[in-house]
Amino acid sequence: MNKGRLIVFSAPSGCGKGTMLAEILKDERFAVSVSATTRAPREGEQDGVNYHFLTREDFEQRIADGKFIEHAEYCRNLYGTLVSEVDGRIEQGLNVILEIEPQGAMKVREKRPDAIFVFIVPPSIGELRRRLKKRGTETDEVIEERISKAAWEISQAEKYDYVIVNDALEDAVSDFFTVIRAEQLKQEFS
Ligand code: 5GP
Repeated sequence: MNKGRLIVFSAPSGCGKGTMLAEILKDERFAVSVSATTRAPREGEQDGVNYHFLTREDFEQRIADGKFIEHAEYCRNLYGTLVSEVDGRIEQGLNVILEIEPQGAMKVREKRPDAIFVFIVPPSIGELRRRLKKRGTETDEVIEERISKAAWEISQAEKYDYVIVNDALEDAVSDFFTVIRAEQLKQEFS
């Protein structure tokens, strides 16, 4: 059986990444890696489903034990990809998506050069602010912090293989499947 591909999927907070992923995951050849984080769960988030929610101490112990492919600090919390979420499933033929921010993504670039790097951008920063406010899960201060972070993240888009604008969900998801198919064909014919 062919191995699956590792896909790095980054998008500033509020880009509609969650909705896009839900659509992508309807295709059973794709799976998402559940990250670990020290951030507190948002309402409705479940441990082991949205994230593995860890204390900072537990997280740091796992770093020391070499359990992460990458980890990064984002808005004062640690986030990281566990090896155990990724390698077994790629061997089984699944395409595993890492939904991570650019600092972590660039660490994956060094370790896993065969990964496919996809960056999602909002149609504009104004639209991003509107989406974050509508979500209503963060305070105004956190929203502004996330928007300035988003501006920095968007400046990193050029380091990715593909940039997709999430204006209309259906088009963005279709673009995603097209670039993955193109990469698979490149590999098949190389
Ligand atoms: P949120 O707190 O909104 O769930 O996520 C904040 C940021 O952390 C997002 O940009 C998300 O992509 C990123 N993130 C989530 N999991 C990981 C991870 O395992 N590693 C890294 N480097 N970033 C992550």
